[in-house]
Amino acid sequence: MKLSNKLFILLTLVILSCQVDETGMDGALIEFITTPVLSTDHNRNYYYQFKATSSLNGATISYEVNHPSWMNYAQDQQLLSGIPDWANVNKNEKIIIKASDGATTVTQEFNINIKLGEIICDTPIGPPKDSPYVLPFDIGKSRVLSQGACPSNPSWGHHNWFAYDFDMPIGSNIVAARAGEVLHIEERWTDGNRAMGQANYVYVMHDDGTVAEYYHLTKDGVLVNIGDRVKQGQVIALSGDTGPSIGPHLHFVVYRSRWEFSKYQRQYTLAVNFKNAEGALDANNGLVFQQVYKALDY
Ligand SMILES: [Zn+2]
Repeated sequence: MKLSNKLFILLTLVILSCQVDETGMDGALIEFITTPVLSTDHNRNYYYQFKATSSLNGATISYEVNHPSWMNYAQDQQLLSGIPDWANVNKNEKIIIKASDGATTVTQEFNINIKLGEIICDTPIGPPKDSPYVLPFDIGKSRVLSQGACPSNPSWGHHNWFAYDFDMPIGSNIVAARAGEVLHIEERWTDGNRAMGQANYVYVMHDDGTVAEYYHLTKDGVLVNIGDRVKQGQVIALSGDTGPSIGPHLHFVVYRSRWEFSKYQRQYTLAVNFKNAEGALDANNGLVFQQVYKALDY
């Protein structure tokens, strides 16, 4: 064997042994627990939460995180999040996370691929029979859609926003459109206040991480608590006329994730329809402004 070959083998062994150390094979165990969003549209929030665990008793884990400049790192939650803009489209970027328990360091590297964002307001929705949602009011009731999703006139409240308004008298039952866990509630505001930031609401997170918003509820009209599991069709609230509203109605929205929901973050709304809605649909299978929708049994 030539000297150069021997050197090559020696170097390979050195490199391999370094890798063994770095992947924690020498006793300590560190692994990442994660649900990453690593590829989505440019105008969406990317988030990545991680946590390393160590088999060493009482080990404190320290992290070193390299991330794209448009992301923020919340150290207390080990949460990376951020919204890329047009300049980041079609770029491959990297997140590099090092976790150390003092004895072992593990490095993980993730590629982020940013695509051009879809136009939410023109998103085809699947057939209603495949929808995971039911109309957010009692079976047998018919309600007028007093504002549809994404009106073209910018002076309308739902401009560039996938939201539905259903007219109904104050005190009408609001049912969970889908099962989930109650994330946030508010019920202290008085009906007719017409004030921004003074609406009552319930937010429910579904098992896929999407979040439904039930908005403008009546004073003391929330019938669930934060952390409750609610079933589809369960009465969770009473409708009202609180906050920026021009009359009694329910404002219903679904957000893509719990990291993105906020009544001001319209670009994160999802286009939805309802499996038990009897009424006209538009070319994308969405509900139509000023049409009546009856909640059928399902
Ligand atoms: Zn609305």
